[in-house]
Amino acid sequence: MYATAFLDLPALSHATGAVLLPGSKSISNRVLLLSALCEGTTTVHDLLDSDDTRVMLSALRQLGCGVAHNGTTVTITGLGGRVQKTEALEFFMGNAGTAMRPLTAALAVMGGDFTLKGVPRMHERPIGDLVDALRLLGCHIDYLGNEGYPPLRISKPHLVLEAPIQVRGDVSSQFLTALLMALPLAAAQRAITIDVVGELISKPYIEITLKLLARYGIAVQREGWSRFVIPAGSHYRSPGSIHVEADASSASYFIALGALTQGQGITVQGVGADSIQGDIRFVEAAQLMGARITSDANALHIQRGAWPLKGIDLDCNHIPDAAMTLAVMALYADRPTTLRNIASWRVKETDRIAAMATECRKLGATVEEGPDWLRIHPLPAGAWRAASIHTYDDHRVAMCFSLAAFNADQVPVRIEDPKCVAKTFPDYFEALFSVAEAHSVPVICIDGPTASGKGTLAARLAQTLGYHYLDSGALYRLTGLAATRAGLPLDASAEQAIAHLARTLPVRFQGEQVWLGDDDVSEAIRTEDAGMNASRVSALPAVRTALVALQHSFRQLPGLLADGRDMGTVIFPDAPLKVFLTASAAKRAERRHKQLISKGFSVTLDSLRADLEARDARDSSRSVAPLKPAQDALSLDNSELSIEESVDQVLAWWQRKQPF
Ligand code: C5P
Repeated sequence: MYATAFLDLPALSHATGAVLLPGSKSISNRVLLLSALCEGTTTVHDLLDSDDTRVMLSALRQLGCGVAHNGTTVTITGLGGRVQKTEALEFFMGNAGTAMRPLTAALAVMGGDFTLKGVPRMHERPIGDLVDALRLLGCHIDYLGNEGYPPLRISKPHLVLEAPIQVRGDVSSQFLTALLMALPLAAAQRAITIDVVGELISKPYIEITLKLLARYGIAVQREGWSRFVIPAGSHYRSPGSIHVEADASSASYFIALGALTQGQGITVQGVGADSIQGDIRFVEAAQLMGARITSDANALHIQRGAWPLKGIDLDCNHIPDAAMTLAVMALYADRPTTLRNIASWRVKETDRIAAMATECRKLGATVEEGPDWLRIHPLPAGAWRAASIHTYDDHRVAMCFSLAAFNADQVPVRIEDPKCVAKTFPDYFEALFSVAEAHSVPVICIDGPTASGKGTLAARLAQTLGYHYLDSGALYRLTGLAATRAGLPLDASAEQAIAHLARTLPVRFQGEQVWLGDDDVSEAIRTEDAGMNASRVSALPAVRTALVALQHSFRQLPGLLADGRDMGTVIFPDAPLKVFLTASAAKRAERRHKQLISKGFSVTLDSLRADLEARDARDSSRSVAPLKPAQDALSLDNSELSIEESVDQVLAWWQRKQPF
């Protein structure tokens, strides 16, 4: 997951390959709650691990459910429809509507002393219609803030089940889902009828609820979409084990990707024709826009068909979440696209109609909006603008706008707060980068004399930008180590043999750790000896050549921080930013001195300084890869700067080169 303040996507050229998607959020949270309401244990396979499911799991733990994790499999030991705990419980729901609504209903029916709160946005998302319905049923619920909105306080109910319960269906289908999951708890003696008032929106989500209820032993009878009856004698039965299918809404980004780019196409695994999720019908919408899609029971294959895409006019009530993806596809169409019947967008994680309109406009598009519709005009080549996309703590806004990086004008796109995708798809950007290719992956090169602090600076910059990090010195250190272990002399007499070793190094970087084959050599390559050996093998031209391909392979999306001698001159001469970091010999000696003393070595400052100056002279005058700044490098003397100040300076230079 990218936990950076922003993530810059360079212009992307095409995408091809297969992605395995995480489990569906809607199914995951329903299955968790249903398993919690049953007696006995349920093993849930392929559960989504995201913010929303964590919210639900921690609430279930608070209630006294058993929760045991094993990878993506979770075993839930249910409550059997009764809360054993008598103390007051306070639940934090974050911004998870799929946890807040059903839990409110289930807790209100079971009764207890409960408070439910969320993030500020959750306190702006309506729940009044559900509370009204539950109150009609005899539940006790109070508003702790604004009337009609969380936070809520729940106490013991006096259930009155004779008359049908009425609930509005035109604000959020989650209200009906919540009642359908809670009321079987009260239907042991008599049937319970729910009447929907107003046109029911997002029917496919109700279908998911009904299909899952059936798996848990509850056969709801329905009359059209306006009356639902939970039969007398209903009680929850665990299915024993259940699989969560991949998220069809998450699939929409990769379906769009396949429709947008040339090549062999994109394969989406984990969801297909057999899906019970309504958003699978996004496939039809994408086909209307021109995508060529074939589906298996559990997979989809997507290729570009019509190009430009075809603008459409579509009622999106049946695919409310996935339809956001159409808004960005519309930028690549031949005529305007109108998305209708999307009023529910206004009460989601953010006001999604406003958000999509505002951010599409930032890219240069003309957008019209109404209370429940959105019209996006295409962006022709020459009209795209680089934009910093605000994401409103809305995972779908972030994921949708990553698709703008395929624009014809090759402008980059900045996604603010990329970690908001954690709500449903924590590794979304990793999945995108595993199939997408950029026109050019940006590289920042940092070079400078020994002990100038370039390693620390490069690593910090990589962390700030979410970029990969190449410590090229480590590759020479590894080569020196491998050659020493192989008993080779580290000089020209073994040049070809060492070069061969370098070309086939079984190296693996894992966070701070460095592996050579099955050996953790993180410490072994950091000794003074290893540095000296690196210096020796790095003076052999064949060894340098042998390491070129390995170094190039680090240049991957979204970008690279390359630290070392010839990064800007030889390995990445086209890098858009090269920094030559210097500090006075006195300062560098002081820093190295502190470092060594803290590790327990006894050295004098004077001898260190003399060593450094000698090494500078040797490094600058050697014929192979001498220490010298690339011609177009910016020089940074950090003698008087803290590491934070150096990072800020380089970031400012980088930012100045960005079009945002
Ligand atoms: O940066 P580090 O101290 O790990 O580098 C070890 C040695 O490897 C350096 O002293 C230098 O001689 C060599 N080196 C190189 N080219 C690079 C990185 C390091 O020649 N790109």
